[in-house]
Amino acid sequence: MRGTLLVLNAGSSSIKFETFAAGPAPVALMGGQVEGIGAVPHLRLRDAAGALLADRGWQDGGAPRDHAEALDAILGALGDLRPAAIGHRVVHGGPDLAAPAAIDDAMMARLEALVPLAPLHQPHNLAGIRACAARFPGVPQLACFDTAFHRTHPWEADTYALPPEFHARGIRRYGFHGLSYEWIARLVAAEDPALAAGRLVVAHLGNGASLCAIRGGRSLDSSMGFTALDGVPMGTRSGQIDPGVLLHLIEAEGMTAAELSRLLYAGAGLKGMSGLSQDVRVLEASADPRAAAALSHFTWRVRREVGALAAAMGGIDALVFTAGIGENSAGIRAAVCEGLGYLGLHLDPARNRDGLPDVSAPGSPARILIRRTDEEAMIALHLTEALAGGPAGA
Ligand code: ADP
Repeated sequence: MRGTLLVLNAGSSSIKFETFAAGPAPVALMGGQVEGIGAVPHLRLRDAAGALLADRGWQDGGAPRDHAEALDAILGALGDLRPAAIGHRVVHGGPDLAAPAAIDDAMMARLEALVPLAPLHQPHNLAGIRACAARFPGVPQLACFDTAFHRTHPWEADTYALPPEFHARGIRRYGFHGLSYEWIARLVAAEDPALAAGRLVVAHLGNGASLCAIRGGRSLDSSMGFTALDGVPMGTRSGQIDPGVLLHLIEAEGMTAAELSRLLYAGAGLKGMSGLSQDVRVLEASADPRAAAALSHFTWRVRREVGALAAAMGGIDALVFTAGIGENSAGIRAAVCEGLGYLGLHLDPARNRDGLPDVSAPGSPARILIRRTDEEAMIALHLTEALAGGPAGA
């Protein structure tokens, strides 16, 4: 298969994009994003080494007004690309889609029906697909879901303790960040098949954060549930919170659903707690005690989740840190690993400071690793497999 693969990740006000030279192992060519769609749009394009190729702010007018126009701006910056195939990150594949899905009218209708499960994300993902269909009729498109990797969860991990009809209605724990976990699972499998056949806890700690128990290469459980709000605290999201708190805020304090949504998605987490920033770099550099308190709570909850997921697997062979915080913050990694010696996880402080791929202490029974996640590359790989009629089956 030859040509260029286009990978898109459309959010509420941004479209991230990356192109790859098609081949058995797709090679990244260029990537970037349009931010500020609907407000003050800005496009940046970089080559695979990170060098800036385009930086456009449209102060002179003609700024893209919606996702379709932003896509046109991206294609213009890419030199009027005609992709061989297009892969999209789509947040929700519902209870049944356990692999990427080829887009046709029936699949679009199915994905539309899932909008109520992810109202803040799914409509933008689908807008990206529609914009591409209009721009490139006949070019194959593949939807790659954040939920798909978790469809191997046992029922016990997927259900809430509610009457069974709720589960049947789709009120269940879907899990997210699946493309990241799948990438890490494949990376570890390529490097060390024996380790990948064992028990991994992967800590995807970025702006959004979750952890996943992967046993024998398959997701067994994850900290995120029905939505991407559950689990550990995040940049601006609360993470797990007693549902009784929400009832109290509604009943005793009269908060509306919209106010709660704003609080839990945008006003909580590291930013809400510190009152300063959602960015761990800012908090680590700050002398404000609220910054230290927010980080301390964050690492407390992440450490708890490592223990919970290890318990779900009957032990742990490796803890893998990934995403912006996991890959870059030695301080967070050290704080998370503090006291995890009982699980056989011993961190080497110097290796951790240097951010080496293996930061476990010599002789540590379980390993502690740092791996770079790459959701776009995972989508490009799915595209490659789908075009070859491979495992993605699309
Ligand atoms: P997302 O893809 O979810 O937007 P990322 O995985 O890119 O997020 O993570 C972004 C976050 O990573 C930033 O908000 C910041 O908290 C953290 N981060 C990035 N670089 C560093 C660094 N050098 N040290 C500490 N934290 C970092």
